[in-house]
Amino acid sequence: MVRLQRPPIPAPLAVAAPTATQALIDSWAEGNEPEVQPAIYNHPAVKTALRAAQNDKCAYCETRNPTSHDLVEHFRPKNGSRQTRQDALHKPEYFWLGYSWENLLFACDRCNDRGHKENLFPLVNPAQRATAANRDTGLEKPLLLNPYGAKDPEKHISWDRDVPRARNHSRYGRTTIATFRLDEDSLLLRERKKYLDDMEKSLDAVEALSANHPKRIAVRPVFLRCASNKEPWSAMIRANLGARIEAL
Ligand SMILES: [Zn+2]
Repeated sequence: MVRLQRPPIPAPLAVAAPTATQALIDSWAEGNEPEVQPAIYNHPAVKTALRAAQNDKCAYCETRNPTSHDLVEHFRPKNGSRQTRQDALHKPEYFWLGYSWENLLFACDRCNDRGHKENLFPLVNPAQRATAANRDTGLEKPLLLNPYGAKDPEKHISWDRDVPRARNHSRYGRTTIATFRLDEDSLLLRERKKYLDDMEKSLDAVEALSANHPKRIAVRPVFLRCASNKEPWSAMIRANLGARIEAL
């Protein structure tokens, strides 16, 4: 997971969100279950803006998955939340953030699905959770790292080769890794390990060339790009190979 810069709100969302959000609040006040409309938060302009800001990668696992369904994900879940996987679903929660630009990000199917994040949204103190009646999330301290948030994920997650670990026992790092199963999902582990091993082998071969060998000069920008946020699993590459790539 890497830190991201949120782009300006896409115009279709900016136009639709205020009225649509008020409609959800009114619906709840009338005793109905608020229904967040995908057509608004999943608008192509929203997807395009998030994908561009995230270099087409999942905000959570940094995977670039061409078969993903391009899900626009709600950081605070829109249909109720759970503190732990065993908890009952607390409803109605966070529906009022269903169209909030600050609450949206682009995530892969895997991170979004059952067994990963789904409705999980653990807080340091669950008693401070915002409710439908008191929609102020200002007191909440989420335990999940938000790539668009104030905390730099790389300060909370370190790497043991291809496996992420909580840096300095960070509770935020630990909860984020556990929620998305970033250290135990077999397909993700396999793909990520192969990517690191292959890149390390390529780097070994390039380092064996003389300093001004044309091939070494030619591939340096490619390695630098892989250590930048533009390519998948860049936090892992930086942690493992960043210094060697810089020295090429
Ligand atoms: Zn993901």
